[in-house]
Amino acid sequence: MIVVSTKRELLTLLKPVWKGGKKLGFVPTMGSLHKGHLSLIERSVRENQTTLVSIFVNPSQFNDKQDLLNYPREDEKDKSMLSPILGQKDIVFMPDEKEMYPEPDNTNFNFGKLDKILEGAHRKGHFNGVAQIVKKLFELIKADNAYFGEKDLQQLMIVRKLAMMINCKTSVIACPIVRENDGLAMSSRNKLLNKEQRKEAAKISAALFEAYSLQAKYSPAELKKLIISKLETNKALDLEYFEIADGYELQSLSDWNDSSLIYALIAVKIGPVRLIDNYKLVDNNN
Ligand code: AMP
Repeated sequence: MIVVSTKRELLTLLKPVWKGGKKLGFVPTMGSLHKGHLSLIERSVRENQTTLVSIFVNPSQFNDKQDLLNYPREDEKDKSMLSPILGQKDIVFMPDEKEMYPEPDNTNFNFGKLDKILEGAHRKGHFNGVAQIVKKLFELIKADNAYFGEKDLQQLMIVRKLAMMINCKTSVIACPIVRENDGLAMSSRNKLLNKEQRKEAAKISAALFEAYSLQAKYSPAELKKLIISKLETNKALDLEYFEIADGYELQSLSDWNDSSLIYALIAVKIGPVRLIDNYKLVDNNN
């Protein structure tokens, strides 16, 4: 694999890839890689002749300064995890902040209802920052395929909308959530949990799995109330939201028949660490 940190070096590598007409796959990450990231990268390697992985902790998507400072950074370890997976001609792009934001980016995006709810409501400006960096990267890299995890379901939907808004040729491909043995969704932030917090964190996915198993007995509103009341008895978990929503615009649902695709979504703080997860409850499309 070839590791570069400037756009100039990247363009030199990309020009022959674009010209050669072979498929280019792109996996954007913020590093501190785990098996969830690797599943996206392995899929890109399978489906494209060249894969580009970016590692950049994007400041504009952090609404909380301390969260940005605490975010784990493990560049050397990341490279050693990537080298057995990537081929000789695959690319790792690790720019610094000046490289991606030579001047402040004041672009304001409008995603309608989608960026005002759930993560958008709890992390003001988060999706605008995500859109800023994804737009820059999409326009720079001009990949055929870009791989995003369903772990960040709302982000995936935002990126799909963005790709249409900016008219780019890159196909956005959704990849399933990779979980630890106890169900916890893999996340770079899991590394920030102490032993006790890590144990409690398994209750986040457990709540989603419980919602799945109880759905036949309750309406969405009743089920939501039940799960929230159970989570609120746990003093180690600070629940930000638990929502049952349609899988298209993530709008809250009052009836199981209101959508053919329904998810439960959750955000919880454990100490200073904020974790999100989701689980598909209904899929009548297949
Ligand atoms: P991040 O480094 O957290 O920005 O994540 C980079 C990409 O990896 C995003 O598209 C995430 O949705 C995806 N991702 C993160 N964790 C997981 C996971 N546990 N399973 C699948 N994809 C994931």
